[in-house]
Amino acid sequence: MKISKIKNRGRLFSFDDISYSSFGNKSTHVYAIKASQHFFIFDTYMGPGFMQQVKNAMLHEFGQKPFIVINSHYHWDHVFGNSAFSPEEIFCHKICREIMETQYNAFDPQSFDRYLAQYSFSLPEKQVEIVLPGVTFADSLSFCDEGIELFYTPGHTIDCLSLYDRIDKVLCAGDNVELPYPTYFDEGNRENHIKTLEKYLTMDTDTIIPGHDEILGKEAVKKNLEYRKNLWHKS
Ligand SMILES: [Zn+2]
Repeated sequence: MKISKIKNRGRLFSFDDISYSSFGNKSTHVYAIKASQHFFIFDTYMGPGFMQQVKNAMLHEFGQKPFIVINSHYHWDHVFGNSAFSPEEIFCHKICREIMETQYNAFDPQSFDRYLAQYSFSLPEKQVEIVLPGVTFADSLSFCDEGIELFYTPGHTIDCLSLYDRIDKVLCAGDNVELPYPTYFDEGNRENHIKTLEKYLTMDTDTIIPGHDEILGKEAVKKNLEYRKNLWHKS
């Protein structure tokens, strides 16, 4: 795990446990923000042990604060660490919770290995318990006194949300932005993705945290948008 300081109050935790060629051997990120009243944690990676490292690092550097945890979307590499937290600490879009309920609740812990085998992964932490987010929203949710806004940004998947830090002007885009081009998206979701990327371009930010790439700027969003629009016209 590598920790990078981002602007005034962000810490980027980069993990390299998932790497395979079609993934571009990229890191997977958890982004943490020290706000005035809470620590905000964007995504929970692959297991509670990893998230305990994140919690410990934040508590060690900044002292005690309660956590608010956000799942960017339902994919396993962003939610399997939820069990390091309690449901009432975890926020997501309402569709994300619905998908997690149907997709993961049927699984017993032993069946995770079979699930991950589809993707040629083995889980470092065998006993992952899925904890569903206890708080959901539909369009947007503002933590006004903390300078944090969550908003619905479907694209990579239908349930994606993004986080905007108004103080540092940092945008967490999850898997919606990826270089050199988006490698995965739900079919039928292209128009949503285009709208989401266009919204990103209107935002006051020069620092975009993706789920897996290095830190990006709006050039990457423009490239993704161009790719998506071309794909749209070809289809
Ligand atoms: Zn994903």
